[in-house]
Amino acid sequence: MITRFAPSPTGPLHLGHAFSALTAFNLAQAAGGTFLLRMDDIDRERSKPEYEQMAFEDLAWLGLTWPEPVMRQSRSGDRFRAALGQLADLGLTYPCSCSRGDIAAAAGAPQEGVPEFGPDGRIYPGTCRERPMSDLKPDDAIRLDMAKALEHGPLPGFHETGPERPGTHALDPRGMIEGIGDVVVARKGQAAAYHLCVVVDDTAQGVTLVTRGMDLFDATPIHVLLAHLLGFPVPHYHHHRLIRDEAGKRLAKRDDARAIRKYREDGATPEDIRAMVGL
Ligand code: GLU
Repeated sequence: MITRFAPSPTGPLHLGHAFSALTAFNLAQAAGGTFLLRMDDIDRERSKPEYEQMAFEDLAWLGLTWPEPVMRQSRSGDRFRAALGQLADLGLTYPCSCSRGDIAAAAGAPQEGVPEFGPDGRIYPGTCRERPMSDLKPDDAIRLDMAKALEHGPLPGFHETGPERPGTHALDPRGMIEGIGDVVVARKGQAAAYHLCVVVDDTAQGVTLVTRGMDLFDATPIHVLLAHLLGFPVPHYHHHRLIRDEAGKRLAKRDDARAIRKYREDGATPEDIRAMVGL
């Protein structure tokens, strides 16, 4: 069993990260498995070495250990290009030049019963869908044609554990991704986009259990589809509960007040942090 914690070093880690990392670490320990740390630093503008260093220090202080060297998404460019090439060879991708404004304008007025937003933002209306990959321009994003992708052989189910449903159970991703629109697999100016990066790197690291928060639950079926298209084994998934503030809002990077670093400076112990997140 191999699981991981994969933060993006774009801000200090907060209590939600502490809970996610400790959950993954505890699951690995309980199963006699391996806990890995990965830096999801594909966003080169927002990722900062000082946040990465802070994450290493905070996680070690919490009592976590992990094998070195730590994988960095920014070094996985060749793997991402190979995966994008595979999807293009299957005829499942197309270049897209639409801005957010273009997409909002083309989507038109919201219709009753038709969702406007999916796990990948505003549901893409398909403006560029007929463009061939040979037309790819440096400023284009690349999207996955979901209708075609869903026709590509029988989509496997996935095993999930989490706070919403007791025990391990199998879920069918198909119904969860029909209607969410064509997701972005490469962003303009970046080797690849979140969904593809995570699937490729989890596979490269041999991850068998993806541990992540419930906030990413809707992304999981997209990842199962991508793994299936790329011929990768589909891991199991554990979606954990979210740590919220007093108002019930999920903690975000900007919640610096709840940064692990801040609690450390105020004299908290690792045990205090565990207690604060209910462990
Ligand atoms: N890098 C992702 C994040 O910071 C987590 C990895 C994942 O489970 O997708 O939200």
